[in-house]
Amino acid sequence: MVMRGDIERSPVIGMSSWTRLLRTATKERPTETVPRGYVDCVEAAGGLPVLLPNRVGTDVAEACLDLVDGLLLTGGDDVHPHLFGEAPHPRIDLVDERRDRFEIALIHAARRRGAPVLGVCRGVQVMNIALGGDIYQDIPSQFEGSIGHAQRTLGEGSWHEIDLQPGTRLAEICGAPRVPVNSHHHQACRRVGPGLVASATAVGDGMIEGLEDPRMPFFVGVQWHPEVLENGADPVSRRLFDAFVAAARDYRRAASKERPVSAPDR
Ligand code: MN
Repeated sequence: MVMRGDIERSPVIGMSSWTRLLRTATKERPTETVPRGYVDCVEAAGGLPVLLPNRVGTDVAEACLDLVDGLLLTGGDDVHPHLFGEAPHPRIDLVDERRDRFEIALIHAARRRGAPVLGVCRGVQVMNIALGGDIYQDIPSQFEGSIGHAQRTLGEGSWHEIDLQPGTRLAEICGAPRVPVNSHHHQACRRVGPGLVASATAVGDGMIEGLEDPRMPFFVGVQWHPEVLENGADPVSRRLFDAFVAAARDYRRAASKERPVSAPDR
């Protein structure tokens, strides 16, 4: 008889969601969404993607982390500057403090149990803020001499290059000292939160393009959008999702050893 647990299931990846107004034939309704690129990349790496609707409360975040093997912080709108002690800059775009606070609760819940976290674009910024860092609210008006980080291309090809910091997890994943990435952001990490390491910087202006926590099994954030670069076919971006899902699989195996699921005798 095959016992439950004998057949290894795919690691479950909880994806943070983007609350958007979705227009139906007659109404506009707030709707929790995840762009399909994230779903496709998690699946291609062998994970089972599930959506985590934005909620209120750290107890809800803990309950979500009970159900997943990894946390994917997706991209989205701007982060509320109150969360790093600033007033809103005139050039700030749409913010959703409910999402900000839920994602920060998810991050702390994941870190408490050592679950892998991958942050994309807004995701890396929220990771930094959660650990006490801050961000530029608007790169063009707050960072003199920045290269253009708002991509102006029809397709999803690369826009600028990044330099990888040797010895970091991200450098190991990328497999080269310099790689091309896409760029869809007007905010970026500024002061790095205590314990975090800048793993990548933009060629041309040194903007932070990657952060990670070497104290955690997998706590990696990137400023670019791996889920759409070269329409999801960029080899470096695929390796990033592969490494994240592999870390989620390792985490799940270790967690199941700690808390064995014993099937009742029949
Ligand atoms: Mn960029």
